[in-house]
Amino acid sequence: MFKTTVAGSLPKPSWLAEPDKLWAPWRLQGADLQAGKRDATLLALKEQEDAGIDIVSDGEQARQHFVHGFLENIEGIDFANKVEMGIRADRYKAMVPQVVGPLRLKGRVHAFEAQAARAHTTRKLKFTLPGPMTISDTIADRHYGDKVKMAFAFADLLNQEARALQADGVDVVQFDEPAFNVFMDEVTEWGIPALERAAAGLKCTTAVHICYGYGIKANVDWKATLGNEWRQYEKIFPAIARSSIQQVSLECRNSKVPIELIGLLEGKDILVGAIDVASDTIETPEEVAEVAAAAATHVPAARIQLCTNCGMAPMRRDIAYAKLAALAKGAALARQRIS
Ligand code: ZN
Repeated sequence: MFKTTVAGSLPKPSWLAEPDKLWAPWRLQGADLQAGKRDATLLALKEQEDAGIDIVSDGEQARQHFVHGFLENIEGIDFANKVEMGIRADRYKAMVPQVVGPLRLKGRVHAFEAQAARAHTTRKLKFTLPGPMTISDTIADRHYGDKVKMAFAFADLLNQEARALQADGVDVVQFDEPAFNVFMDEVTEWGIPALERAAAGLKCTTAVHICYGYGIKANVDWKATLGNEWRQYEKIFPAIARSSIQQVSLECRNSKVPIELIGLLEGKDILVGAIDVASDTIETPEEVAEVAAAAATHVPAARIQLCTNCGMAPMRRDIAYAKLAALAKGAALARQRIS
């Protein structure tokens, strides 16, 4: 009950990449960069273990961004000529690569960091991949002429990599789908079928992370327009509940998502976000335990894990790890109270 985990990314050491930002440029090159990614992965594991996190991740130390990290080893993508595109229904502009031909994996994408992580922790290991809908919303299509067709092409590649990650010994493969609360109708029509294609045949635990984004300004401004109650999840949770995906990760701490909506996720494990990644204020164990207790009034406690609201990549490192320690202490407190 109340096992702890992270949504995915963790801040990188400042010797590896420029700190406190998304898409941070690397500070190393060539063999030094490869060695640095490995070292940072080991540090991230050690910090999570010391903080008391049960299901740890590689912290996404080896990729620059959660979507484009996956795209770098795919044939059919032009990375050299990025174009500006409005993403997440034009919430913000990003420079994105272009799909220019049939998509095919050139080889493994994340073998190096997944295997390094697996070799250095005995805890359960989670590994994240971007979901097909979110990828399709973060790249320009110059080849398929059909967003859905392109998303399913990406889903097949994700499935190849996910099966390989499972063979590497990864315990949980999580697909990140922040686009799910932007395109609610499409989620049911093709977003979930594409996600199921990406997870097809996996025997390890499968998860989807949906969220309202990192604590960057564009997201904070967007959230301010969503009103007092965020009910986007109400439209998509029943469809997710019917899907084959086993776990759902979502933000709850300082969120305007009515907590009772998690009751719509019948049969799923809920990774309840109890740590706000948009604030530098470190939660108290008491605050974490309160989120756990609120969630447990709508979902059996045995199906709840405590998690961060979203990735912590753009945060200060000391703050991020202090928050993870608070998460584990809060989980212990919640277990005492509820068992
Ligand atoms: Zn997120």
